[in-house]
Amino acid sequence: MTAPQAEAVIDLDAFGANLEALAACAPSSAQMTVVKADAYGHGMVPMARAARAAGTDWLGVATLAEALALRESGDTGDLLCWLAAPGADYAAAVEADVEVTASSTDQLAEILAAAPRRPRVQLKVDTGLSRNGALGREWTALVAAAAAAQAAGRVEVTGIWSHFACADEPAHPANDAQEAVFVAAVDELTAAGIEPGLRHLCNSPATLTRPSAHFDMVRVGIAAYGIRPDPGMTYETPLTPVLTLRGRLAQVKRIPAGAKVSYGQTWTAERDTTVGLVPLGYGEGIAVSASNRAEVLAAGARVPLVGRVCMDQFVVDLGERSARRGDAVVLFGPGHDGEPTAEDWATASGTIAYEVVTRLGGRIVRTYE
Ligand code: PLP
Repeated sequence: MTAPQAEAVIDLDAFGANLEALAACAPSSAQMTVVKADAYGHGMVPMARAARAAGTDWLGVATLAEALALRESGDTGDLLCWLAAPGADYAAAVEADVEVTASSTDQLAEILAAAPRRPRVQLKVDTGLSRNGALGREWTALVAAAAAAQAAGRVEVTGIWSHFACADEPAHPANDAQEAVFVAAVDELTAAGIEPGLRHLCNSPATLTRPSAHFDMVRVGIAAYGIRPDPGMTYETPLTPVLTLRGRLAQVKRIPAGAKVSYGQTWTAERDTTVGLVPLGYGEGIAVSASNRAEVLAAGARVPLVGRVCMDQFVVDLGERSARRGDAVVLFGPGHDGEPTAEDWATASGTIAYEVVTRLGGRIVRTYE
């Protein structure tokens, strides 16, 4: 068999330890592990299995297709899905025991019309993110519609939830404001005669820093994968990055002073130097904006990426270090051996670490250890 161009090596013990540390951080709340978008690039089915093995209570995904794929993989635990495009197959979701989210009266009506039996539905209130969720009068209307449907035995409302906009800035005033709106929304639901069921508001940063908002469940994504929600955040919970992205140098050669590297000739060797070819590119999700900015660990040191990232490859400047075709190169990992982290790559490429890991794909082979 041909060796993979590059491997994403996923440390399932670190993942389990992260989930345990996050559970200790919100000890009175259930835990949902968010595995949408292929578990942030880590592989949805294996990460879902590992999360269940680590004792997580719920899994959360964005789309119905993701939820159904989890069911097809054999997952039978509590599972919530929150983003259904118009025409989504709610019947299949309900048949598969997936809890769905209603963010508007229209959406609730769609669910009720499609469901082959009484669906379990969680209600989403917009507390200030202005994304998915019912806001103001629409929330009041959604509560009334849900109360009527529940009284008629047509739905089981199992939860109420919302999502923070600025939880990665713990002191941001929007956090208090959103929490207050959430509490009022829960009261409105209760006043309409609906037991709120699971109340949940926290993502990773709020789980880490905002115990007042833990309520009945926290939804952890990025922190479970060991990545800080924001490089400026500090907290005591120990988290270890789970994914190491590595490959092997496909070519090593000397180039003379003045040689220009890659498309557009955006980098020029100031002196004779050794360059190494890394067989990964934007086809694998390596950002072009990392060109001339990111670093990798190769030949025992952190060395710079030079020239533009191409579709399948990029070049690093090894200087006078000795290296050979086939030598290991680590793009990012936990940082324990001096390699950059996904956060370093995010900073270098002008994005967030969420994007760095989630966009990984293409020809990368994932292995689980
Ligand atoms: N809850 C919802 C609704 C989300 O969309 C996400 C991810 O964006 C999360 C929780 C997890 O967020 P984080 O990765 O910051 O923990």
